[in-house]
Amino acid sequence: MNTAKNKAEKVCTAAKKCSGCQLSNMNYERQLKWKQNTVYKLLRQFGTVKKIVGMSDPCHYRNKQQFVFKRAKNGKVVCGLYQSKTNGVVECFDCLINNERACEIAKTVTELLQSSKIKIYSPKNGSGNLKHMLIKTGNKSGEILLCFVCAKRTFKPDDIFIKHIIEQCPDITTITEIVNKTPEGVFLDGEESIIFGRGYITDSLCKMRFKISAKSFYQINPTQTERLYTCAIERARLEKGEQVLDAYSGVGTIGIIAAAQTGAEVLSVELNPDAYSNARENAELNDVQNISFVNDDAQRYIEELAKNGEHLDCVIADPPRAGCSRGFLLSLIKIKPKRVVYVSCNPKTLQRDLYFLTKNGYKADFIRPFDMFPFTNHVETVCVMSCKED
Ligand code: SAH
Repeated sequence: MNTAKNKAEKVCTAAKKCSGCQLSNMNYERQLKWKQNTVYKLLRQFGTVKKIVGMSDPCHYRNKQQFVFKRAKNGKVVCGLYQSKTNGVVECFDCLINNERACEIAKTVTELLQSSKIKIYSPKNGSGNLKHMLIKTGNKSGEILLCFVCAKRTFKPDDIFIKHIIEQCPDITTITEIVNKTPEGVFLDGEESIIFGRGYITDSLCKMRFKISAKSFYQINPTQTERLYTCAIERARLEKGEQVLDAYSGVGTIGIIAAAQTGAEVLSVELNPDAYSNARENAELNDVQNISFVNDDAQRYIEELAKNGEHLDCVIADPPRAGCSRGFLLSLIKIKPKRVVYVSCNPKTLQRDLYFLTKNGYKADFIRPFDMFPFTNHVETVCVMSCKED
């Protein structure tokens, strides 16, 4: 099947070594067909699957890129993408999906490292300092955050290395450092300090501003996120004063935009305490008052609402790949909101949850896949349901 015609128009030089893009051997049109078909096969039994929303330019959409540093045998510093299969590092400054400016910055930083005294961390014996680098870019604001992840405190604001970075990349608006003491551990675990600038960037989504820090969760494809949110909020047909639950709300983006655009009263529930605090800050930043935030497990919280006989007009749920828990759905059908807007990043668990909801009083009125992650095998779907008794 790998004829020249089927190859992606742009070629990634690291495609064979890097396992990041599972569909890099397909042209974009075929990728979209493949994703459409995946969702169609799983969800057609519930209703018409509308045409997938793809990107006009599917390259370089990521606003967040993670790089790993390694010292090669010849002494050169190598900066690249982490290869999960081999624990190796694949040098790739022409990645098809990473932001191009972020790749240029990574290259500049690597060049500066070659002549600096900064020690690169070695996972083999735990010596050295610098482990990883994270670059986040504001799609509309143009702001750029650079975060170094080190085994111990390494950088100070007046370091010559930091000065050189700022001189050579004047578009970097903030630099932070995370001290990560675990040998393997999660990429961004550890205490963060600000080296330069405010410690975070902002970007706008559906005309609202959001704060993005190194650790905060933020959708990685802002162009498609806008399309997906616009669709989800329009289809939720919210009216002023309606009670809406935004479950699995992350940093509050969908709920804040929905509250501002429609005047509905939004309750936002999120388990991660950092995302919850970011969500509160984001509501304040946009001066949105008709939203409140709860830091809790979505199932536990909706069970409490059901127990107290609370009323909801609409539930917007955007769960992780595992989908909504059965307990969450059991309480949802007790409360019986008129509409449910399900934003799913895994059509298999969406299928499972749709079986349950369609057996328990709901019908699917609208199903549309969105390509949030071109060149990868992930596909997002918006499914809007209504209560049959309506
Ligand atoms: N709606 C957001 C985030 C979606 S990602 C957006 O569009 O950006 C899913 C979110 O669900 C994550 O922020 C994760 O922390 C949260 N989450 C995972 N399990 C949860 C649970 N049991 N209860 C509440 N939130 C949960």
